[in-house]
Amino acid sequence: MSVKTETLDVLIIGSGLAGLVVAETISRELNVGIFSKGEATESNSYRAQGGVAAALSTNDSWKKHWRDTLEAGDDHNDNSNTATLTKAGQEAVHMLAAWGVLFDHDEHGFQLGKEGAHEHPRIVHAGGDRTGEALVHTLMERVRDHVQFFNEETVLSLLKVDRLCVGVKTVNKNGENRFWKAPHTVLATGGAGQLFSQTTNHAFATGDGYALAYRAGAILRDMEFIQFHPTLLATDTGAADLITEAVRGAGGRLVKSDGSRVMAHHPKGDLAGRDIVARAIAAARSEGREVFLDLSPVSHLAERFPGVASLCKIYGYSSQLPVAPGAHFMMGGVAATPDGKTNVPGLYTVGEVASTGVHGANRLASNSLLEAVVFGRKLGRRLLAHPRKRPAVFRTREEPSVTGTLPTKAEIKQVMDEACGVNRNAKTLQEAVDFFNLYSPESLQSDDPHIQESSNMALIAALITNAALARTESRGSHYREDHPMKKQAWDGASLTWPQIPAEGGIGIR
Ligand SMILES: Cc1cc2nc3c(=O)[nH]c(=O)nc-3n(C[C@H](O)[C@H](O)[C@H](O)COP(=O)(O)OP(=O)(O)OC[C@H]3O[C@@H](n4cnc5c(N)ncnc54)[C@H](O)[C@@H]3O)c2cc1C
Repeated sequence: MSVKTETLDVLIIGSGLAGLVVAETISRELNVGIFSKGEATESNSYRAQGGVAAALSTNDSWKKHWRDTLEAGDDHNDNSNTATLTKAGQEAVHMLAAWGVLFDHDEHGFQLGKEGAHEHPRIVHAGGDRTGEALVHTLMERVRDHVQFFNEETVLSLLKVDRLCVGVKTVNKNGENRFWKAPHTVLATGGAGQLFSQTTNHAFATGDGYALAYRAGAILRDMEFIQFHPTLLATDTGAADLITEAVRGAGGRLVKSDGSRVMAHHPKGDLAGRDIVARAIAAARSEGREVFLDLSPVSHLAERFPGVASLCKIYGYSSQLPVAPGAHFMMGGVAATPDGKTNVPGLYTVGEVASTGVHGANRLASNSLLEAVVFGRKLGRRLLAHPRKRPAVFRTREEPSVTGTLPTKAEIKQVMDEACGVNRNAKTLQEAVDFFNLYSPESLQSDDPHIQESSNMALIAALITNAALARTESRGSHYREDHPMKKQAWDGASLTWPQIPAEGGIGIR
């Protein structure tokens, strides 16, 4: 049976900040469609609280920001791409302000927050802790009249002719399939926090983009590096909302039930790197001791952190919130240049799903919104500078679904919680690898978006567990109890799929 085929200049998969910035850059000149799994505002970008990192104060500089980013990344960053990102910080914030984002100000100009592992206050925010909302609304308003939004239209697969990516196959909320052709397809699908039971991520963050890219032959790398945010509100039903690190930057302290400080042992105290704080909280909780975020030293809480204040109200806490770590951000992803080029011609990527090496083995707080803006802009400019003819007519027909057995989402989460969380070891990782080996999700294609989502999750979970087992050291967010030290032998080494010779580079110059 043939299905409807439509043609655009650029297909953007994802309506988060990264996709919206690309659209803002190109949509007055090119015919652009943006696809999303739900409503356009349903994304991790919309949920972002703390803000955008940039060296804006007089005693700060992009080099200091760069150094902090490399230190957090634990010797695993691409130094040059990281410099490109941090150098562009100031300009990016001014550009966003010029576009209409109402960042919070004080008497000195932008009000700058401080977050973990940043040497200086350098986080700009909007509406207190509602930065993501402000960014997404502003961008949506700017592109609304120039792009077509295809909400509740899930991308099931990327279409290829020979090596070239020529479009996508989607399914909409009525279960109808459509094929879309375009010379440029942009993956801006965000992360994969939903692989774990405790996560800050939106329910749509099931790692679809990694799986779409993998099946289309794109190179994935560094999948073992997953950041766990230390402070999710711990409720009776498991961890819930994120409590931004900026609260600790404003004086909030982590304490145990006897009032002792959790981070007393660390020189950076409550603002130590996220992996360190997450492990300290996990260790206390594994001894059966609850950990709380003490908000009493934070002045003007309701004004500065309205989201956190409303959480306190909803859950009935006054000043001490019980907290637990949860999956937050994926450092690895689809290998790409800062302007979004992948090894598959016609396929580009940006935002959390992309891996340009700027986050190393552990992301510095508030660098990902910056990445979405800076690299989204670069990708947009690349597309304008390298126009391509629309793909020649190709036959599109309904692909038969390839079915098979899959683990349930609950099973995937349980295995990932046990094997790939804050602490990892060979035994549970090997069990997880064996578990995922029982299935073949890479070849499972379905027109049912829920089955496809499970297949994507199982595929990505398998890649992550294999990588985490193979990396026999601890680095950044990847902590192996059986290999607790960083090892020189692993310096500069990335685990990639498909596996390529180290000297071969990633072939995306
Ligand atoms: C609670 C929270 C707070 C955060 N706070 C900050 C912060 O203060 N500062 C900071 O720098 N970072 C923060 N982050 C991280 C940051 O928000 C994300 O890394 C960033 O927003 C990712 O943007 P993105 O555009 O790449 O993806 P997202 O914003 O996640 O958007 C992904 C889009 O892809 C779409 N999509 C996915 N799969 C498909 C498919 N198969 N078909 C169609 N569409 C698809 C989704 O529907 C969605 O529209 C936070 C993250 C969370 C979860």
